[in-house]
Amino acid sequence: MSFETAKRMEALPFSGIRVMMERANRMQKEGADIIHMEIGRPDFDTPEVIKQAAYDSLAKGHVFYTSNYGIPALREAIAEKLTKENGVAYAPEEILVTIGVGEGTYAAVAAFCNPGEEILVPNPVWLNYIHVPNFFGAVPVAYDLKEERDYQIDVEELESKITDKTRMLVINTPGNPTGAVQTRETLEQLADLAKRHDLIVVSDEIYEKLVYGDTKHVSIASLPGMKERTITLNGFSKCYSMTGWRLGYAAAPVSMIQGMVRVHQYINTCASSFVQEAGVVALKKAEPDVQIMVKEYERRRNYAVKALNAMEGISCRTPGGAFYIFVNVKSLGKTSAEVADYLLDHAHVATVPGSAFGEGGEGYIRLSYATAYDQIVEAMKRMEKAFNELREDK
Ligand code: PMP
Repeated sequence: MSFETAKRMEALPFSGIRVMMERANRMQKEGADIIHMEIGRPDFDTPEVIKQAAYDSLAKGHVFYTSNYGIPALREAIAEKLTKENGVAYAPEEILVTIGVGEGTYAAVAAFCNPGEEILVPNPVWLNYIHVPNFFGAVPVAYDLKEERDYQIDVEELESKITDKTRMLVINTPGNPTGAVQTRETLEQLADLAKRHDLIVVSDEIYEKLVYGDTKHVSIASLPGMKERTITLNGFSKCYSMTGWRLGYAAAPVSMIQGMVRVHQYINTCASSFVQEAGVVALKKAEPDVQIMVKEYERRRNYAVKALNAMEGISCRTPGGAFYIFVNVKSLGKTSAEVADYLLDHAHVATVPGSAFGEGGEGYIRLSYATAYDQIVEAMKRMEKAFNELREDK
């Protein structure tokens, strides 16, 4: 017996990233030596201080529901972190602890967007920002991130997409899949636009600590007049290597947090008690561990960017942040899905076709360097050989 899914499920396809990962894993099970550059998952263990905090919490018997909003100690620690590091003063009442940014995204759209209202989203983008609006009947409207602009948002182009139905603007910096970090100037222009058009801004800053060289992360909520209209989404998955712990937060004015908590209470009740306690320790004690990971990501990024740009017909920008490289493979004359399939079959290197992030990603593949340095060195060798063979085949 089988049941048809509800009509609204048409808006929820399986993710293209997962499809690639599952195919790579199947090949690996059958004995292929696969190098995984497809997943956006740090390869480091969670720092020991954080794990210890979770063990301690469990040992103390902290195994019960918490407040829907999250435990006071974590809301305080997050408010303090945002005030000190991000330059925008929040009180604990303005924080909602979520099950990752994934839930934050869902709660923000569910709480603030009516069917038919439009949400400006980057293209290419982490696809939750397309599928979640669709699920609620809201309309994602793409604005382009272009390689020739170093993936900086073109605020004029973005403004041309605004209609009287536009309700929300989503930004993601440092960004997935491009690795681009929006500059202060870009964010100032966006802030001006958001105020003129009275938009809610959702700012996904999950990669904020993963910035390299002179690149600086700026939170749009810290710009004048922006805290009032911004929902900052952040989490522990990437910077603290805690993807499996499922912990994140939203920071916004109390009235907006109240809207989001009403969604959150009916899905999750609260984040796990002991995970929240570990989150406090992550914020207060794990900065040295984060900095070790950042250094290593930077070393890998530098190596891979150089190696890719040395390959005939292949090029990429130097991403300022996150752990992705968006590689231009247009000269191969194939779709990005064909290139990704070819690399998996012939080089045993798993990547994600840019088209999995929206049509603006066509002609690119995304590589994640959240994998060991040696593996990256080997992957670059294999890719160069495979690209050369592909060119000769034509
Ligand atoms: N936002 C972006 C931009 C991401 O790339 C990801 C993970 N790929 C997430 C959010 C998911 O975050 P979390 O694990 O906190 O749900």
